[in-house]
Amino acid sequence: MNFENTLFFAQELDKNDSLQKFIERFHIPQHKGKNAVYLCGNSLGLLPKTARNFVEQEFLDWENFGVEGHFNAKNPWFPYHHFGRKMLAEIVGAKEEEVVAMNSLTTNLHMLMVSFYQPKGVRKKIMMEANAFPSDQYAIETQVKFHGGNPETDIIEISPRAGEYILRTDDIIAQIEKNKNELALILFGGVNYLSGQYFDLKKITEAGQSFGVTVGFDLAHAAGNVDLQLHDWNVDFACWCSYKYLNSGAGGVGGIFVHEKHSANNDLPRFAGWWGNDEQTRFQMKKGFFPQTGAGAWQLSNAPIFAMAIHRASLEIFAEAGIKNLSAKSKKLTAYLEFILNEFNQKNPEHELKIITPKNISERGCQLSLIAKKDGKNIFEQLALNGVIADWREPNVIRLSPVPLYNSFEDMFIVGEVLKKIF
Ligand SMILES: *Cc1c(COP(=O)(O)O)cnc(C)c1O
Repeated sequence: MNFENTLFFAQELDKNDSLQKFIERFHIPQHKGKNAVYLCGNSLGLLPKTARNFVEQEFLDWENFGVEGHFNAKNPWFPYHHFGRKMLAEIVGAKEEEVVAMNSLTTNLHMLMVSFYQPKGVRKKIMMEANAFPSDQYAIETQVKFHGGNPETDIIEISPRAGEYILRTDDIIAQIEKNKNELALILFGGVNYLSGQYFDLKKITEAGQSFGVTVGFDLAHAAGNVDLQLHDWNVDFACWCSYKYLNSGAGGVGGIFVHEKHSANNDLPRFAGWWGNDEQTRFQMKKGFFPQTGAGAWQLSNAPIFAMAIHRASLEIFAEAGIKNLSAKSKKLTAYLEFILNEFNQKNPEHELKIITPKNISERGCQLSLIAKKDGKNIFEQLALNGVIADWREPNVIRLSPVPLYNSFEDMFIVGEVLKKIF
């Protein structure tokens, strides 16, 4: 599509956008009495206006029923984790039984590694991307230590080539092949939080599994952002948080995917809790953990109803908007922002904001990561003073993430205008 950097053009795109009406479903932070341009959905998604009612319903039912809310609440708490599960499955491209919302992301990383990281003999290494989110680094490092391994030698980090910012899929595959006899697990991010690169999950999974390696993904920056087909890609397991693109509130409940091929395997090592037990016998309070089928078996505790209520409010919006529509708008919105940034860079080479995120739209989600030629932190602060909420990652990256549910094409135009103003 041929874009133009004018207010009229941006507003025309908004007029023709069937998702434009969803912006009103969210509380948008204010700047000088107007909606700010909020480009931080990769860090904390915005509050759906319906969330309060969802939470209020649980307050009411608790108030009225006490413990009987487990069965008598409007949305009974006993089966609460089943609500919204279908939508969650759709978002990550899974069967309903393959996903469940539970715990928090880092907890789930550990829980899943308990089951899927089983070092044996020389096959004990974990492969991950360099510059992974610190929590993932810590989780992997301490899992290796927990199994008596040495993080220095048992973790293989894949870095971009010198002078490059993104990983080439061929290089990842070559490293997998090179280490094929020593790898126990490949655990990559889906979308790298810093560069915004969306890895080729299908190819990585195929390559790993062809050498008998288990393959899992941390989808914190992917879930609700990019097209995912976890089931068809035969991914072994995955986890994510719900407060970024899934708009479910700070510290909101996380989610996991376990491929159905593992669901009948009761021999998998795991740390179990009563909520993962077969639902028919859960309240018999008997000895001997008997896992339910599917990802639900990894649940530990009864669901955090208030966090789950917000999550449901958000998932309903996703269901209504439609994943395919969101994805189509997301690609166009980000391409428009890219166009505006490229134009800025052409006109202001001395202040270039280099886009390090892949140009290829199949290798990215909505996020564009920028490295300023100079004064990056200052530019980030100036953006905020002018109502453009971006985010800053040390040492030098500005991240802009237009979200199709609550950002407009006009927002992208405003980013360009604010940049002109700053310089
Ligand atoms: C946001 C994020 C986290 C945060 O973990 P929590 O357990 O939710 O605090 C971890 N890993 C990645 C890749 C993230 O993007």
